[in-house]
Amino acid sequence: MAFLRRAVERPHHAYLFAGPEGGGKQLAARAFAAALLCERGSGCGSCRACRLALEDRHPNVFAVEPEGRDIHVETVREEIWHPAYRTAPEPGRKVFVVREADRLNAAAADMLLKVLEEPPADAVFLLLSARPDELPETVLSRCHVVTFLPLSEEFVAGALEEEGVERDLAMLAARLSGGNLGRARRLATAPDGLSFRDVAARALERAEGSVSGAIEAADLVLEAAERYRKGLKDELERDLAPFLDERGRPEEAYRGAVRRLEERHKRRVKRSERDYVDWVLLAVSALLRDAVVSAVGLGPEALMNPDLPPIARGVISAVSGIAAVEEGRAALAEEVNVNPRLVLEHAFLRLGASS
Ligand SMILES: [Zn+2]
Repeated sequence: MAFLRRAVERPHHAYLFAGPEGGGKQLAARAFAAALLCERGSGCGSCRACRLALEDRHPNVFAVEPEGRDIHVETVREEIWHPAYRTAPEPGRKVFVVREADRLNAAAADMLLKVLEEPPADAVFLLLSARPDELPETVLSRCHVVTFLPLSEEFVAGALEEEGVERDLAMLAARLSGGNLGRARRLATAPDGLSFRDVAARALERAEGSVSGAIEAADLVLEAAERYRKGLKDELERDLAPFLDERGRPEEAYRGAVRRLEERHKRRVKRSERDYVDWVLLAVSALLRDAVVSAVGLGPEALMNPDLPPIARGVISAVSGIAAVEEGRAALAEEVNVNPRLVLEHAFLRLGASS
């Protein structure tokens, strides 16, 4: 991070933040953007520009991410190419963030490369990737590479504590998230942060032993996913508030920023069911893993959920359950058109059968 602080004074045009998911790349990108846009030039963390950048909604920060499997060329054209050569919405630099940059398809990578080859003087590009070797060499060679290592549980918990999260909750979130800082923060701070774990425990219980139980378990998860989706609406309103006039309409200079926030929100809503179902399955997997840990007689320090009594399940049943759940998660991640209900029913049927 010291390196990034120095870089703020005379930034390169393009950086690649390389490292595992949840390893702090997004946090670093937001902090770097804040420092580049800070009204005091220091990344003070408290001026308006810093706060907006840290909350990921500064109008001069343009972020692209995959829609479905890829980052498409139209997205790069609209969100990078055009704004790169136009005046920024607010005075100061423009910061372009490409999340999961290895998902740029060939045409999109080409278009990005053209911008990187003739970068506007006031633009800084931050590419983020967990698989940097999958980026085209031509793009890589234009970037200054910053490597991120996986974060320790202790670091994640400490970061959350600094943000005001209570010690016990911070430790639990760090453990449950497997050291993934973004996920840990969501667990610890979202209003329904740990609710999906309760849903997972209830669904697991419901799925025991019968076909109808498996279907009820799937229903239970999908109903909770729907509640989560509805809750996202309030977040959009909060995000948009600084850019609207007193009649609730976007101020002229912020039309683009508001549209981008709305589109990002739309993508989140669209993904929300899959995301939520994945979190529940991950929690089911963790509960089963704890059953294995306790069945083989390891102590509470080895548990994923040290605050819950481990469920009683034989090792073989728990392990085959984990396999069923992980297959479901893989299907959700890889197949764009897979039906979450089918994934859930299938996983719970196999879980029930092995219990
Ligand atoms: Zn500042």
